[in-house]
Amino acid sequence: MRKPMIAGNWKMNGSFELVTELSSAINKVKSAKIDVVVFPPFPLISLLQQQGITVGSQTVSEHNPGAYTGEVDAQLIKQCGAHYTLVGHSERRSIYGESNQRVADKFARAQQVGLIPVLCVGESEQQRVTGQTESVVAAQIDAVIDKLGLAALKDSVIAYEPVWAIGTGKTASPEQAQAVHKFIRDKIAASDSDLAQGLTILYGGSVNEENSEFLFAQPDIDGGLIGGASLKADSFTAICESA
Ligand code: 13P
Repeated sequence: MRKPMIAGNWKMNGSFELVTELSSAINKVKSAKIDVVVFPPFPLISLLQQQGITVGSQTVSEHNPGAYTGEVDAQLIKQCGAHYTLVGHSERRSIYGESNQRVADKFARAQQVGLIPVLCVGESEQQRVTGQTESVVAAQIDAVIDKLGLAALKDSVIAYEPVWAIGTGKTASPEQAQAVHKFIRDKIAASDSDLAQGLTILYGGSVNEENSEFLFAQPDIDGGLIGGASLKADSFTAICESA
């Protein structure tokens, strides 16, 4: 069976003090039954890893090392102690113009160095109301499959994060989220059912300690990618305990 995963995306928040506070809280709730992963800003990756926390980066360069000022190489991220990286978070797509193709390139580069990519997908409010949720999510996943083949999804995680639910307090209902998670799993199962059954699919978007247990109770929701609530020790540990 799939092991639940709870991931905290700190976005552009965090400090040395937060590392101390959160790592001691997380170390108390860690168990063999769940994977807890923190995605801090780059400079905090090593520090958190040294506190015994499983870590990932929030993005990764698609390039090999070279003249790309301000970018961070995947191999260096790995050397800093990261096991995972987010790719295609909606804030990267909307603020920094990352296309499906570029996200697929980042996914490829992450896997090349042995980082596990967490592919973030999800529709905007406009896309949802105009009935495009499934086609948008399918295209985001197909960009990776077209570049690397379906088997590449084996060593990855997918995070479904409807853009309208991120940082808005408007969580998708458990049924709405489950419907998209099932769509993703069924889509992959149509080509490889073992791969689909083993694939971890996280939900993200205004998850908190009040709604997490109902989301995680859905059959195709394997855990959460938590933004705001991952910065508060009490909330984040309560969410971990509900998985
Ligand atoms: P919030 O939990 O703050 O809505 O953020 C979700 C998110 O973007 C996690 O990657």
